[in-house]
Amino acid sequence: MGNSLEYLKNQVEELKKDGVYRKLPINYGPCSNVIDLNHNQVVNLSSNNYLGLASHDRVKKAAIEAVEKYGAGTGSVRTIVGNMDLLENLEILLAEFKKEEAVTCFQSGLNCNIGAIQAIVNKGDLIISDELNHASIIDGVRLSRADKAVYKHSNMEDLERILKEKRDNYNTVLIITDGVFSMDGDLAKLPEIVKIAKKFNCLTYVDDAHGSGVLGESGRGTVDHFKLHGQVDFIIGTLSKAIGVIGGYVASKAVVKDWLLHRARPLLFSTALPPAAIGATIESVKMLMESEEYTDKLWDNARYFKEKMSKLGFDIGHSETPITPVMVGSESKTMEFSRELLKNGVFVSGIVFPTVPKGTGRLRCMISAMHTKEDLNFAIDVFEKVGKELNII
Ligand SMILES: *Cc1c(COP(=O)(O)O)cnc(C)c1O
Repeated sequence: MGNSLEYLKNQVEELKKDGVYRKLPINYGPCSNVIDLNHNQVVNLSSNNYLGLASHDRVKKAAIEAVEKYGAGTGSVRTIVGNMDLLENLEILLAEFKKEEAVTCFQSGLNCNIGAIQAIVNKGDLIISDELNHASIIDGVRLSRADKAVYKHSNMEDLERILKEKRDNYNTVLIITDGVFSMDGDLAKLPEIVKIAKKFNCLTYVDDAHGSGVLGESGRGTVDHFKLHGQVDFIIGTLSKAIGVIGGYVASKAVVKDWLLHRARPLLFSTALPPAAIGATIESVKMLMESEEYTDKLWDNARYFKEKMSKLGFDIGHSETPITPVMVGSESKTMEFSRELLKNGVFVSGIVFPTVPKGTGRLRCMISAMHTKEDLNFAIDVFEKVGKELNII
Protein backbone atom coordinates (compact mmCIF):
# COMPACT_ATOMS: atom_id res chain seq x y z
CA MET A 1 0.00 0.00 0.00
CA GLY A 2 2.68 2.51 1.12
CA ASN A 3 4.53 2.65 -2.15
CA SER A 4 1.41 3.15 -4.21
CA LEU A 5 1.11 6.69 -2.81
CA GLU A 6 4.66 7.56 -3.89
CA TYR A 7 3.28 9.64 -6.79
CA LEU A 8 1.41 11.91 -4.40
CA LYS A 9 4.55 12.38 -2.30
CA ASN A 10 6.40 13.40 -5.42
CA GLN A 11 3.69 15.83 -6.37
CA VAL A 12 3.79 17.43 -2.91
CA GLU A 13 7.59 17.72 -3.24
CA GLU A 14 7.05 19.54 -6.54
CA LEU A 15 4.81 22.07 -4.76
CA LYS A 16 7.55 22.67 -2.19
CA LYS A 17 10.14 23.15 -4.93
CA ASP A 18 7.89 25.67 -6.67
CA GLY A 19 7.44 27.63 -3.43
CA VAL A 20 3.67 27.18 -3.44
CA TYR A 21 3.31 24.55 -0.71
CA ARG A 22 1.29 25.79 2.25
CA LYS A 23 -0.32 24.77 5.50
CA LEU A 24 -3.88 25.89 6.04
CA PRO A 25 -4.04 28.93 8.32
CA ILE A 26 -6.28 28.47 11.37
CA ASN A 27 -8.76 31.15 12.43
CA TYR A 28 -9.53 30.90 16.15
CA GLY A 29 -12.60 33.15 16.14
CA PRO A 30 -15.32 34.63 13.93
CA CYS A 31 -14.69 35.99 10.44
CA SER A 32 -14.30 39.68 11.27
CA ASN A 33 -12.22 42.76 10.37
CA VAL A 34 -9.44 41.64 12.72
CA ILE A 35 -9.02 37.90 13.18
CA ASP A 36 -7.04 35.59 15.44
CA LEU A 37 -5.16 33.74 12.73
CA ASN A 38 -2.68 31.14 13.94
CA HIS A 39 -2.92 33.01 17.26
CA ASN A 40 -1.86 36.34 15.77
CA GLN A 41 -4.19 39.31 15.62
CA VAL A 42 -4.21 40.38 11.97
CA VAL A 43 -6.26 42.65 9.76
CA ASN A 44 -8.31 40.37 7.54
CA LEU A 45 -8.17 41.38 3.87
CA SER A 46 -9.13 38.00 2.52
CA SER A 47 -12.71 37.11 3.25
CA ASN A 48 -15.75 37.23 1.00
CA ASN A 49 -17.73 38.54 3.96
CA TYR A 50 -18.25 41.79 2.04
CA LEU A 51 -20.86 43.27 4.34
CA GLY A 52 -19.74 41.90 7.70
CA LEU A 53 -22.93 39.87 8.02
CA ALA A 54 -21.19 36.55 8.81
CA SER A 55 -20.90 37.49 12.47
CA HIS A 56 -23.52 40.24 12.74
CA ASP A 57 -25.60 40.04 15.93
CA ARG A 58 -28.93 40.03 14.10
CA VAL A 59 -27.81 37.22 11.81
CA LYS A 60 -26.41 35.12 14.66
CA LYS A 61 -29.63 35.56 16.63
CA ALA A 62 -31.71 34.43 13.66
CA ALA A 63 -29.54 31.30 13.33
CA ILE A 64 -30.02 30.47 17.01
CA GLU A 65 -33.80 30.97 16.79
CA ALA A 66 -33.99 28.70 13.75
CA VAL A 67 -32.05 25.99 15.58
CA GLU A 68 -34.37 26.24 18.57
CA LYS A 69 -37.45 25.81 16.41
CA TYR A 70 -36.17 23.41 13.74
CA GLY A 71 -33.07 21.71 15.19
CA ALA A 72 -29.61 21.33 13.76
CA GLY A 73 -30.21 19.26 10.65
CA THR A 74 -32.94 18.63 8.11
CA GLY A 75 -32.73 14.86 8.12
CA SER A 76 -32.93 14.27 4.40
CA VAL A 77 -32.77 15.63 0.89
CA ARG A 78 -35.46 18.13 -0.09
CA THR A 79 -37.42 15.61 -2.09
CA ILE A 80 -38.10 13.48 1.01
CA VAL A 81 -38.59 15.41 4.30
CA GLY A 82 -35.79 18.00 4.10
CA ASN A 83 -37.93 20.73 2.56
CA MET A 84 -38.77 22.85 5.59
CA ASP A 85 -41.17 25.79 5.39
CA LEU A 86 -38.22 27.94 6.43
CA LEU A 87 -36.52 27.11 3.13
CA GLU A 88 -39.68 27.80 1.13
CA ASN A 89 -39.87 31.19 2.89
CA LEU A 90 -36.26 31.97 1.99
CA GLU A 91 -36.93 31.18 -1.66
CA ILE A 92 -39.95 33.49 -1.75
CA LEU A 93 -37.94 36.27 -0.08
CA LEU A 94 -35.01 35.83 -2.48
CA ALA A 95 -37.30 35.91 -5.52
CA GLU A 96 -38.69 39.23 -4.27
CA PHE A 97 -35.18 40.54 -3.59
CA LYS A 98 -33.91 39.49 -7.01
CA LYS A 99 -37.10 40.67 -8.79
CA GLU A 100 -37.36 37.35 -10.62
CA GLU A 101 -40.23 34.85 -10.82
CA ALA A 102 -38.73 32.02 -8.79
CA VAL A 103 -35.69 31.03 -6.76
CA THR A 104 -34.33 27.53 -6.11
CA CYS A 105 -31.84 27.17 -3.26
CA PHE A 106 -28.87 24.81 -3.24
CA GLN A 107 -26.38 23.91 -0.50
CA SER A 108 -23.66 26.10 -2.01
CA GLY A 109 -22.78 28.14 -5.07
CA LEU A 110 -20.61 25.31 -6.30
CA ASN A 111 -23.52 22.91 -5.92
CA CYS A 112 -25.67 25.27 -7.98
CA ASN A 113 -23.30 25.22 -10.92
CA ILE A 114 -22.71 21.50 -10.69
CA GLY A 115 -26.42 20.80 -10.40
CA ALA A 116 -28.08 23.39 -12.60
CA ILE A 117 -25.90 23.25 -15.71
CA GLN A 118 -26.22 19.52 -16.10
CA ALA A 119 -29.97 19.73 -15.52
CA ILE A 120 -30.62 22.33 -18.22
CA VAL A 121 -28.38 21.19 -21.06
CA ASN A 122 -27.65 17.77 -22.48
CA LYS A 123 -25.35 15.85 -24.71
CA GLY A 124 -25.74 17.38 -28.15
CA ASP A 125 -26.23 20.93 -26.85
CA LEU A 126 -23.56 23.63 -26.88
CA ILE A 127 -22.25 25.70 -23.97
CA ILE A 128 -20.20 28.81 -24.72
CA SER A 129 -18.18 29.89 -21.71
CA ASP A 130 -15.91 32.86 -20.89
CA GLU A 131 -12.31 31.69 -20.49
CA LEU A 132 -12.08 33.16 -16.97
CA ASN A 133 -15.25 31.56 -15.61
CA HIS A 134 -15.13 30.10 -12.10
CA ALA A 135 -13.90 26.53 -11.56
CA SER A 136 -17.36 25.38 -10.44
CA ILE A 137 -18.78 26.44 -13.82
CA ILE A 138 -16.07 24.50 -15.60
CA ASP A 139 -16.96 21.42 -13.52
CA GLY A 140 -20.68 21.92 -14.17
CA VAL A 141 -20.03 22.15 -17.90
CA ARG A 142 -18.01 18.93 -17.83
CA LEU A 143 -20.73 17.06 -15.98
CA SER A 144 -23.36 18.19 -18.49
CA ARG A 145 -21.62 16.33 -21.34
CA ALA A 146 -22.64 19.12 -23.69
CA ASP A 147 -20.18 20.37 -26.30
CA LYS A 148 -18.16 23.30 -25.09
CA ALA A 149 -16.62 26.35 -26.72
CA VAL A 150 -14.62 28.99 -24.85
CA TYR A 151 -14.49 32.66 -25.82
CA LYS A 152 -11.67 35.01 -24.97
CA HIS A 153 -12.32 36.90 -21.75
CA SER A 154 -15.22 39.36 -22.24
CA ASN A 155 -14.41 39.47 -25.96
CA MET A 156 -17.75 39.92 -27.74
CA GLU A 157 -16.24 39.58 -31.23
CA ASP A 158 -14.92 36.18 -30.24
CA LEU A 159 -18.32 35.17 -28.82
CA GLU A 160 -20.01 36.19 -32.07
CA ARG A 161 -17.39 34.41 -34.14
CA ILE A 162 -18.11 31.14 -32.30
CA LEU A 163 -21.87 31.63 -32.72
CA LYS A 164 -21.59 32.34 -36.45
CA GLU A 165 -19.50 29.23 -36.86
CA LYS A 166 -21.46 26.81 -34.66
CA ARG A 167 -24.95 28.08 -33.83
CA ASP A 168 -26.74 26.30 -36.65
CA ASN A 169 -25.44 22.88 -35.62
CA TYR A 170 -27.31 22.87 -32.30
CA ASN A 171 -30.80 23.20 -30.91
CA THR A 172 -29.95 24.56 -27.47
CA VAL A 173 -27.02 26.92 -26.96
CA LEU A 174 -26.22 28.32 -23.51
CA ILE A 175 -23.88 31.26 -22.93
CA ILE A 176 -22.33 31.22 -19.43
CA THR A 177 -20.44 34.00 -17.71
CA ASP A 178 -19.44 35.12 -14.27
CA GLY A 179 -21.24 38.37 -13.37
CA VAL A 180 -18.14 39.61 -11.55
CA PHE A 181 -14.87 37.88 -12.37
CA SER A 182 -13.58 36.79 -9.01
CA MET A 183 -9.84 37.09 -9.56
CA ASP A 184 -9.81 40.48 -11.32
CA GLY A 185 -13.02 42.12 -10.10
CA ASP A 186 -14.18 43.20 -13.57
CA LEU A 187 -17.82 42.90 -14.72
CA ALA A 188 -19.19 40.78 -17.54
CA LYS A 189 -20.45 42.80 -20.52
CA LEU A 190 -23.92 41.65 -19.70
CA PRO A 191 -25.97 44.05 -21.87
CA GLU A 192 -23.96 42.98 -24.93
CA ILE A 193 -24.14 39.30 -24.03
CA VAL A 194 -27.93 39.54 -23.68
CA LYS A 195 -28.17 41.30 -27.05
CA ILE A 196 -26.00 38.70 -28.78
CA ALA A 197 -27.97 35.89 -27.13
CA LYS A 198 -31.21 37.33 -28.51
CA LYS A 199 -29.75 37.73 -31.98
CA PHE A 200 -28.56 34.11 -32.07
CA ASN A 201 -31.46 32.67 -30.05
CA CYS A 202 -29.35 31.41 -27.13
CA LEU A 203 -30.01 31.00 -23.42
CA THR A 204 -27.99 33.04 -20.89
CA TYR A 205 -26.55 31.99 -17.53
CA VAL A 206 -24.86 34.43 -15.15
CA ASP A 207 -23.00 33.29 -12.05
CA ASP A 208 -23.23 36.32 -9.81
CA ALA A 209 -21.45 34.96 -6.73
CA HIS A 210 -19.35 38.11 -6.28
CA GLY A 211 -22.08 40.48 -7.48
CA SER A 212 -24.68 39.29 -4.96
CA GLY A 213 -24.84 41.73 -2.05
CA VAL A 214 -22.33 44.00 -3.77
CA LEU A 215 -23.72 45.45 -7.02
CA GLY A 216 -27.13 46.90 -7.87
CA GLU A 217 -29.72 48.38 -5.51
CA SER A 218 -29.03 47.02 -2.00
CA GLY A 219 -26.82 44.33 -3.53
CA ARG A 220 -29.42 42.82 -5.85
CA GLY A 221 -26.59 41.90 -8.18
CA THR A 222 -25.14 42.46 -11.63
CA VAL A 223 -28.44 41.91 -13.46
CA ASP A 224 -30.02 44.69 -11.38
CA HIS A 225 -26.93 46.89 -11.88
CA PHE A 226 -27.42 46.64 -15.66
CA LYS A 227 -31.25 46.80 -15.36
CA LEU A 228 -31.71 43.51 -17.19
CA HIS A 229 -34.45 41.95 -15.04
CA GLY A 230 -36.30 39.20 -16.87
CA GLN A 231 -33.69 39.04 -19.63
CA VAL A 232 -31.22 36.53 -18.20
CA ASP A 233 -32.49 32.94 -18.12
CA PHE A 234 -30.45 31.64 -15.18
CA ILE A 235 -29.04 33.90 -12.46
CA ILE A 236 -26.87 32.14 -9.92
CA GLY A 237 -26.18 33.76 -6.60
CA THR A 238 -24.29 32.62 -3.56
CA LEU A 239 -25.37 32.97 0.05
CA SER A 240 -21.81 32.24 1.20
CA LYS A 241 -20.16 35.54 0.34
CA ALA A 242 -21.80 38.93 0.98
CA ILE A 243 -24.86 37.28 2.52
CA GLY A 244 -22.44 35.85 5.07
CA VAL A 245 -23.75 32.32 5.55
CA ILE A 246 -23.71 29.37 3.11
CA GLY A 247 -25.73 28.22 0.13
CA GLY A 248 -26.48 29.16 -3.44
CA TYR A 249 -29.53 29.76 -5.59
CA VAL A 250 -30.84 29.95 -9.11
CA ALA A 251 -33.18 32.90 -9.83
CA SER A 252 -35.24 32.28 -12.94
CA LYS A 253 -38.67 31.79 -14.48
CA ALA A 254 -40.95 29.42 -12.50
CA VAL A 255 -40.63 26.63 -15.05
CA VAL A 256 -36.89 26.43 -14.41
CA LYS A 257 -37.54 25.86 -10.72
CA ASP A 258 -40.09 23.14 -11.55
CA TRP A 259 -37.49 21.36 -13.62
CA LEU A 260 -34.58 21.77 -11.20
CA LEU A 261 -36.64 20.27 -8.36
CA HIS A 262 -36.94 17.13 -10.52
CA ARG A 263 -33.51 16.94 -12.08
CA ALA A 264 -30.82 18.90 -10.22
CA ARG A 265 -28.72 16.17 -8.62
CA PRO A 266 -27.58 18.12 -5.50
CA LEU A 267 -31.27 18.55 -4.63
CA LEU A 268 -32.02 14.88 -5.20
CA PHE A 269 -28.92 13.31 -3.66
CA SER A 270 -27.55 15.65 -1.00
CA THR A 271 -29.16 16.77 2.27
CA ALA A 272 -30.93 20.13 2.37
CA LEU A 273 -29.43 23.27 3.92
CA PRO A 274 -29.54 23.24 7.74
CA PRO A 275 -32.03 25.46 9.62
CA ALA A 276 -29.33 27.68 11.18
CA ALA A 277 -28.06 28.63 7.73
CA ILE A 278 -31.53 29.26 6.36
CA GLY A 279 -32.64 31.35 9.35
CA ALA A 280 -29.45 33.42 9.23
CA THR A 281 -29.77 33.95 5.48
CA ILE A 282 -33.35 35.17 5.75
CA GLU A 283 -32.20 37.79 8.26
CA SER A 284 -29.27 38.90 6.06
CA VAL A 285 -31.49 39.34 3.02
CA LYS A 286 -34.04 41.28 5.09
CA MET A 287 -31.28 43.59 6.30
CA LEU A 288 -30.26 44.32 2.71
CA MET A 289 -33.87 44.99 1.73
CA GLU A 290 -34.28 47.40 4.65
CA SER A 291 -31.28 49.59 4.00
CA GLU A 292 -28.39 50.41 1.68
CA GLU A 293 -26.20 51.21 4.66
CA TYR A 294 -24.14 48.02 4.27
CA THR A 295 -23.47 48.28 0.55
CA ASP A 296 -22.70 52.02 0.84
CA LYS A 297 -20.09 51.37 3.52
CA LEU A 298 -18.56 48.58 1.42
CA TRP A 299 -18.14 50.85 -1.60
CA ASP A 300 -16.79 53.76 0.49
CA ASN A 301 -14.13 51.48 1.94
CA ALA A 302 -13.26 50.00 -1.43
CA ARG A 303 -12.84 53.40 -3.10
CA TYR A 304 -10.67 54.63 -0.24
CA PHE A 305 -8.37 51.59 -0.32
CA LYS A 306 -8.00 51.55 -4.10
CA GLU A 307 -7.14 55.24 -4.28
CA LYS A 308 -4.42 54.95 -1.62
CA MET A 309 -2.91 51.77 -3.07
CA SER A 310 -2.84 53.21 -6.55
CA LYS A 311 -1.12 56.38 -5.29
CA LEU A 312 1.57 54.23 -3.66
CA GLY A 313 2.36 52.83 -7.10
CA PHE A 314 0.84 49.35 -6.82
CA ASP A 315 -0.64 47.83 -9.96
CA ILE A 316 -4.22 47.14 -8.88
CA GLY A 317 -5.45 45.84 -12.22
CA HIS A 318 -8.77 46.89 -13.71
CA SER A 319 -11.32 45.90 -11.07
CA GLU A 320 -14.75 47.55 -11.08
CA THR A 321 -15.77 46.10 -7.71
CA PRO A 322 -14.41 45.98 -4.13
CA ILE A 323 -12.15 43.08 -5.18
CA THR A 324 -8.70 44.68 -5.35
CA PRO A 325 -5.93 42.57 -6.87
CA VAL A 326 -2.37 43.72 -6.21
CA MET A 327 -0.48 42.32 -9.15
CA VAL A 328 2.91 40.70 -8.42
CA GLY A 329 3.71 38.23 -11.23
CA SER A 330 5.83 35.26 -10.20
CA GLU A 331 4.27 32.58 -8.05
CA SER A 332 7.03 32.45 -5.45
CA LYS A 333 7.25 36.25 -5.11
CA THR A 334 3.49 36.42 -4.64
CA MET A 335 3.62 33.89 -1.82
CA GLU A 336 6.62 35.67 -0.24
CA PHE A 337 4.75 38.99 -0.31
CA SER A 338 1.79 37.34 1.38
CA ARG A 339 3.99 35.78 4.09
CA GLU A 340 5.74 39.09 4.83
CA LEU A 341 2.45 40.97 5.07
CA LEU A 342 1.23 38.37 7.53
CA LYS A 343 4.35 38.79 9.70
CA ASN A 344 3.48 42.48 9.80
CA GLY A 345 -0.15 41.94 10.82
CA VAL A 346 -2.07 41.87 7.54
CA PHE A 347 -3.58 38.73 6.04
CA VAL A 348 -4.00 38.68 2.26
CA SER A 349 -3.82 35.33 0.58
CA GLY A 350 -1.69 34.98 -2.52
CA ILE A 351 -3.51 33.79 -5.63
CA VAL A 352 -1.35 31.84 -8.05
CA PHE A 353 -1.52 29.21 -10.78
CA PRO A 354 -3.70 27.16 -11.27
CA THR A 355 -6.32 29.60 -9.89
CA VAL A 356 -4.97 32.29 -12.25
CA PRO A 357 -2.71 31.92 -15.32
CA LYS A 358 1.05 31.32 -14.74
CA GLY A 359 3.01 34.53 -14.19
CA THR A 360 -0.02 36.56 -13.06
CA GLY A 361 0.25 35.90 -9.32
CA ARG A 362 -1.43 38.50 -7.19
CA LEU A 363 -2.57 39.37 -3.71
CA ARG A 364 -6.30 39.65 -3.81
CA CYS A 365 -7.48 42.21 -1.29
CA MET A 366 -11.10 41.77 -0.32
CA ILE A 367 -12.40 45.02 1.08
CA SER A 368 -15.44 44.83 3.31
CA ALA A 369 -17.96 47.03 5.06
CA MET A 370 -16.68 45.60 8.34
CA HIS A 371 -13.29 47.36 7.98
CA THR A 372 -12.73 50.56 9.89
CA LYS A 373 -10.61 53.41 8.45
CA GLU A 374 -7.96 52.44 11.01
CA ASP A 375 -7.88 48.87 9.67
CA LEU A 376 -7.47 50.12 6.13
CA ASN A 377 -4.80 52.69 7.03
CA PHE A 378 -2.87 50.06 8.96
CA ALA A 379 -3.03 47.66 6.00
CA ILE A 380 -1.99 50.36 3.52
CA ASP A 381 1.05 51.30 5.66
CA VAL A 382 2.12 47.66 5.90
CA PHE A 383 1.68 47.23 2.15
CA GLU A 384 3.92 50.25 1.58
CA LYS A 385 6.65 48.98 3.92
CA VAL A 386 6.71 45.40 2.61
CA GLY A 387 6.16 46.46 -1.00
CA LYS A 388 9.32 48.63 -0.81
CA GLU A 389 11.34 45.90 0.93
CA LEU A 390 10.48 43.44 -1.84
CA ASN A 391 10.99 45.99 -4.64
CA ILE A 392 7.41 45.74 -5.77
CA ILE A 393 6.98 49.52 -5.59
C1 LIG B 1 -17.33 31.57 -4.81
C2 LIG B 1 -17.92 31.24 -6.10
C3 LIG B 1 -18.72 30.11 -6.25
C4 LIG B 1 -18.89 29.13 -5.13
O1 LIG B 1 -19.78 29.58 -4.17
P1 LIG B 1 -19.90 28.79 -2.78
O2 LIG B 1 -21.20 29.23 -2.26
O3 LIG B 1 -18.74 29.22 -1.95
O4 LIG B 1 -19.85 27.35 -3.11
C5 LIG B 1 -19.32 29.89 -7.45
N1 LIG B 1 -19.14 30.73 -8.49
C6 LIG B 1 -18.36 31.83 -8.39
C7 LIG B 1 -18.21 32.73 -9.56
C8 LIG B 1 -17.72 32.11 -7.19
O5 LIG B 1 -16.96 33.19 -7.09
